[in-house]
Amino acid sequence: MSATIIDGKQLAQKKGEMIKTALERLKTQGITPGLAVMLVGEDPASETYVRNKQRACERMGIHSRLIRLPTTATEQHLLDHVVQLNEDPHIDGILVQLPLPVHISTETVIRAISPEKDVDCFHPLNVGKMILGETGFLPCTPHGILVMLKEIGVTLSGKHVVVVGRSHIVGKPVGQLLLNEDATVTYCHSRTENLSSFTKQADILIVAVGRANLITEADVKEGAIVIDVGMNRVNNKLVGDVEFASVRDKAAFLTPVPGGVGPMTITMLLENTVYAATKARAVMA
Ligand code: NDP
Repeated sequence: MSATIIDGKQLAQKKGEMIKTALERLKTQGITPGLAVMLVGEDPASETYVRNKQRACERMGIHSRLIRLPTTATEQHLLDHVVQLNEDPHIDGILVQLPLPVHISTETVIRAISPEKDVDCFHPLNVGKMILGETGFLPCTPHGILVMLKEIGVTLSGKHVVVVGRSHIVGKPVGQLLLNEDATVTYCHSRTENLSSFTKQADILIVAVGRANLITEADVKEGAIVIDVGMNRVNNKLVGDVEFASVRDKAAFLTPVPGGVGPMTITMLLENTVYAATKARAVMA
């Protein structure tokens, strides 16, 4: 068997067209959604992510504002910016690029962002709403994965999903979103014993660890759907957590790295920004 490769770039473009339509509707009301991105320090990976987000905004006609602070910025300095952005009527979404320098509390900064502008869906209020299945923001990468799974037409109800990784950004919320879709979810992490015995049971295997080629063909059930979230730089090349060449021969569907989950993450961020602007500013017909 050779897996169908899920083209995240193409799907992101398709979703992008829908976002454009929503943006045009907002334009007729004189509304241009605005996204503020805060970047502290000079981490090269963060710089790249922020640049990609800004470019995506520009392509779509979303106003983007970059607030760049030095590594030496204090927590209070960052919080002052957050307060200003919370009150700024031209800004609908606020994103703080992680990781922050160690002297700044990520929790404190995230809690300071207005939940109405929390387009990353990291604020505890929005996380809670997501767990309860209430309408609101959905976290970008997990939502992108859910959209991908729906796009390939898989029935999620009753499927065994195994998530490797339990971060607040990817692992935990993606499992939660799929639980809300009636999947049976197993979480694995660095303390899991005999990881392979779990991954081999997965109808849908989602890997979000950050270790190149952690999952090989021996860890995957024949005909599984494999979603590779990992982004690792190996010899200056971007690779996932899944050994693409071998798993391709065993899985039914597989996401590539790059060109899989990554483009979907940015698209969902744009969608959240448009959602925030619509909720805050649009006059509903
Ligand atoms: P974190 O480092 O926050 O979390 C990694 C998780 O993997 C932890 O839960 C950790 O377990 C677990 N883990 C570590 N080693 C093992 C192991 N040997 N076996 C099983 N589990 C293990 O990473 P993120 O969730 O933020 O990101 C994961 C990957 O996804 C990274 O490569 C990141 O770059 C990428 N990413 C990609 C995005 C995209 O849009 N494509 C978006 C966000 C992230 P424990 O909790 O026990 O420490």
